[in-house]
Amino acid sequence: MKTPERVARAKELREQGLTYREVAERLDLKQPKNAWEWVNSEAVQNQNRKASGRKREWEAGECSQCGGRISDYRRHELCRPCSDEQKADEFKAKAQYYIKLREEGLTNAEIERRDGLSYNTVAVHLYRAKKRFGITAPRCPYFKASA
Ligand SMILES: [Zn+2]
Repeated sequence: MKTPERVARAKELREQGLTYREVAERLDLKQPKNAWEWVNSEAVQNQNRKASGRKREWEAGECSQCGGRISDYRRHELCRPCSDEQKADEFKAKAQYYIKLREEGLTNAEIERRDGLSYNTVAVHLYRAKKRFGITAPRCPYFKASA
């Protein structure tokens, strides 16, 4: 049950450094999300007061890239759109890296061995890169004598 006392207790535990999950467990809440709502409902209302400065702002969640609000209760550094974009960039960069190695004549298996990847990683990655971004790799030299 949500009472002002329990909400205050949740904040107190949070200030002592407990995670939202731990706060939720202490107070018998169903989910860490509930603890987050209790702790942050007032922080949102008090946003204009600015009294407690940066720390609170950061807890409310601010994207380190665009400064946008992060509504997730976990401690992400990037908001969802920025994080998706970053992941897409990383994904593309990796595909291009594999393609470069393929152009140098390596097979998927050789790339996997060289980079300590598990079987089929390169093929799956390149397949997805083709579907998502239209990136195409040169034909894998499966029949290369040295393979
Ligand atoms: Zn962002």
